[in-house]
Amino acid sequence: MSTAKRFVRVAEPVLDGNEKKYVLDCLEENWISSKGKYIDRFEKLLAEYCGTRCAVVTNNGTTSLHLALLALGLDRGDEVIMPSLSYVATANVVRYCNATPVFVDSERRFLSIDPNRIEAAITPKTKAIMTVPLYGHPVDMDPIKEIADRHGVSVIEDSAESLGAEYKGRKVGSLAECSSFSFFGNKTITTGEGGAVTTDDESLAERMRFLRGQAVDPNRSYWHPEIGYNYRMTNVAAAIGVGQAERLEKHTAKRRDIAKKYREHLWSFQDLVELPAEADWALHSYWMYTILIPGQIGCDRDEVMSQMLAAGIETRPVFYPIHTMPAYRGLAKKPFPVAEDCSRRGINLPTHGALTDEDVAFVAENLVSIVKNLAAKPSTVRRVA
Ligand SMILES: *Cc1c(COP(=O)(O)O)cnc(C)c1O
Repeated sequence: MSTAKRFVRVAEPVLDGNEKKYVLDCLEENWISSKGKYIDRFEKLLAEYCGTRCAVVTNNGTTSLHLALLALGLDRGDEVIMPSLSYVATANVVRYCNATPVFVDSERRFLSIDPNRIEAAITPKTKAIMTVPLYGHPVDMDPIKEIADRHGVSVIEDSAESLGAEYKGRKVGSLAECSSFSFFGNKTITTGEGGAVTTDDESLAERMRFLRGQAVDPNRSYWHPEIGYNYRMTNVAAAIGVGQAERLEKHTAKRRDIAKKYREHLWSFQDLVELPAEADWALHSYWMYTILIPGQIGCDRDEVMSQMLAAGIETRPVFYPIHTMPAYRGLAKKPFPVAEDCSRRGINLPTHGALTDEDVAFVAENLVSIVKNLAAKPSTVRRVA
């Protein structure tokens, strides 16, 4: 046993399948660029897993989402409705298309877009509703699809964080016209950098493949009828992805097991820590185990995080709402109290496949004692809600 002080990372990849073997195979066979058998294989595995006809892999989860918007024909002047409480890429890709993100507040339980606030945001310019199943909890899609159908707009998902999650027994990835995933190093499965779009629409998939590869004419090399992109994934990255995807059930089961253990440890301390909810229609994939510090105990989230770090535990804050970032400040016509409140109080605890039961207990015990101690301090600045 090492005597080094325990340090628990917030995220870590687990590469314990065939990843190494497949990467070596790429090197030995000299297929290291963006052609090769692992790309097709990875796309097949993803489509099969999500239950869609097609998957198109890309070099990261931002380009995959951009590609989905391009394929849907998003253009200058169009609007895309989305939650403000998301990772910034969700809005950036809309700007890449010269279109406008229209932010909507989230609902508190699952931290995703509030379906009851969507309709008021629809205008004649609305082209799509972009849902974001945040931290692994799926979005309640039925009411959203009903609104979208009534207004003739698309639904697409930035499901970067929710591979493996389910809505009413169906996998995230199969719930929208296009769903985008990320395989960055901290995501549920990783290719280092990587992304994918899943869709049932073969013509959309074909359009994405065309735009991904510089929009080259399939029958005439070096002839480009449109402006394309180089958003291709390499065979080496896809080889890692195949190794990861072969064990997807294991990776997601492990995360659910970690969440269950956090829940057991924290269950009797809910006056100090608000636990993540799971709807009865949902299977949460727990990309992150997200807790909120109760507002009424008046202890500062950032202080909790810095004391956790001092104790050897890395955490992450819940995202800052996108409408509060400099590039997007002008776009919010009103405050988004739920997004702002959850962002201020939220902490993502370490959630990854390399955590041991002892790590989880260590994180939970430290969290409780740090919050308890800070809450008891009369000097703690109390925020007025
Ligand atoms: C990770 C993530 C992305 C972008 O993925 P990259 O692979 O880092 O480009 C997009 N949206 C959300 C919600 C994410 O969490």
